[in-house]
Amino acid sequence: MSGSVAPVPASAIDRIEAEVDVLVVGLGCAGGAAALEAAAAGASVLVLERASGPGGSSAQSGGELYLGGGTRVQKACGFEDDADTMFAYLRAALGPHADEEKLRLYCDGSVEHFEWFCSLGLEFNESLYGAPSWMPPTTDGLMWLGENAWPYDELARPVPRGHRPATESWGGWLIMEKLTAAVRAAGVTIESDTLASSLVIEGGRVVGVTARRFGAEVAYRARRGVVLTTGGFVDDEEMLAAHAPLLLGHGKVSDGLDDGSGIRMAAALGAATRRMGSVEIALTALPAAMVRGMMVNGLGQRFINEDVYPGLFSHAAVVHQPGPWWVVVDEAGWESIPPRDLWGVRPTHAAETLAELEAELGIPEGALQATVELYNRHAAAGEDPLFHKNAEWLRPLEPPFAALDPRLGFASGRDATPQGTGAAGFTLGGLHTTVDGAVLDVSGSAIPGLFAAGRASAGIHGEGYISGTSLGDGTFFGRRAGRAAARDADRQSSTRTRR
Ligand SMILES: Cc1cc2nc3c(=O)[nH]c(=O)nc-3n(C[C@H](O)[C@H](O)[C@H](O)COP(=O)(O)OP(=O)(O)OC[C@H]3O[C@@H](n4cnc5c(N)ncnc54)[C@H](O)[C@@H]3O)c2cc1C
Repeated sequence: MSGSVAPVPASAIDRIEAEVDVLVVGLGCAGGAAALEAAAAGASVLVLERASGPGGSSAQSGGELYLGGGTRVQKACGFEDDADTMFAYLRAALGPHADEEKLRLYCDGSVEHFEWFCSLGLEFNESLYGAPSWMPPTTDGLMWLGENAWPYDELARPVPRGHRPATESWGGWLIMEKLTAAVRAAGVTIESDTLASSLVIEGGRVVGVTARRFGAEVAYRARRGVVLTTGGFVDDEEMLAAHAPLLLGHGKVSDGLDDGSGIRMAAALGAATRRMGSVEIALTALPAAMVRGMMVNGLGQRFINEDVYPGLFSHAAVVHQPGPWWVVVDEAGWESIPPRDLWGVRPTHAAETLAELEAELGIPEGALQATVELYNRHAAAGEDPLFHKNAEWLRPLEPPFAALDPRLGFASGRDATPQGTGAAGFTLGGLHTTVDGAVLDVSGSAIPGLFAAGRASAGIHGEGYISGTSLGDGTFFGRRAGRAAARDADRQSSTRTRR
């Protein structure tokens, strides 16, 4: 955390670099969506970006988009979906305490939002990648993200909703390339290498920002609104320690610039924050091996059905279970993994018996043997009474056995040394906003002229996360914030009951 973020009175500013209707701070997915919609609503728009080019964490992301409700891709792949079923799944998977008001809008508007991505020039192949994976190694346009695993398959009819633009593997760059091109084509000005540092206020209203640009202090004025889309705060150790200490000591899922500057600038003006302790956590455990075997904690005990959305087993392990966490497979299960789902991972330990394996792993004698004995007894009958793993994956595990160490990361052989904890994450909490992005103060009133979206704000998430919901809600509510900021200031809705 560095530098003052105290608001600056407009009267203290000598020179204005530029004046526009809407000022957007940060050009990731949320900033791009906000800028595009504000421009489409007729506003003149300027985007400030601290990096030398657009993209942010969004450009480094996997490009998975959580969308549904009956998109063209879902229909072509033979799945019927609707907004209510999508809502039922996300309310459970993003919970407890998902923001139901935002989530309802997100689900109701999801088909239109999918079409918006298509209108940017993104293409989605009408094919499903059916295997469990963090990220399909194909150009398939649809994937499962936990909808078909217990208990979610009982709460809502299982339908895959992970949408992926057609590119091999990670697609965040493609989304940002198309979005940035659309932003430029809409006549938006982008000023890169410009680090916003404080909000400018006049008569109780946010009317601009101060910034540092090539060592000089500069100021920009916004006639209608400032939209903060500066990303989360996983890169700021002090903020992490204060709000999301769960992530301390783990890796960072970010572009390195998620220092929470936008959140702090608004908080300095009395803005409220929400869900600051909610985080996404990813453990480098291989989903293809997980489903064929089991994950155990440092005591050799199972704790979850291994076919859940990978972020969920990650969260369950890192937050609730003593480490180290191991993925245990048998030879037959390991050999049945298609090479494309191996991600370069190899077992770290191999043993003819479970007694040898638990000794090698430092698990208390007999604990792993008891776990596998119980698992096998029920798996033989196609059941998992403890955690309800789908029968598709249930089979008694037979010797020889192997273990994988998630601390080694992907694409690492058995001679690799552990890199940290094997877990990495990003923050989900941020500024408390209305569904139209208006930033609320600690009394529940909108701060005139101030909007936020993306990970600088609290979105649809409660304490859970599903891939694709960050790019998804960042763009969805970014669009709404851009439209609201472009509206005549006097007509902006101003208050919302404090929750
Ligand atoms: C490796 C990786 C994989 C991921 N995979 C997925 C996925 O598949 N699906 C998904 O939904 N999410 C994924 N995520 C998460 C997702 O990418 C982010 O949560 C999301 O992109 C955040 O969007 P944003 O617009 O809020 O922030 P960002 O995209 O980070 O954009 C914020 C921008 O603001 C700029 N900025 C910050 N502070 C200032 C300032 N003071 N002044 C000026 N500019 C500033 C930053 O430089 C940055 O360009 C992934 C993330 C990573 C890193």
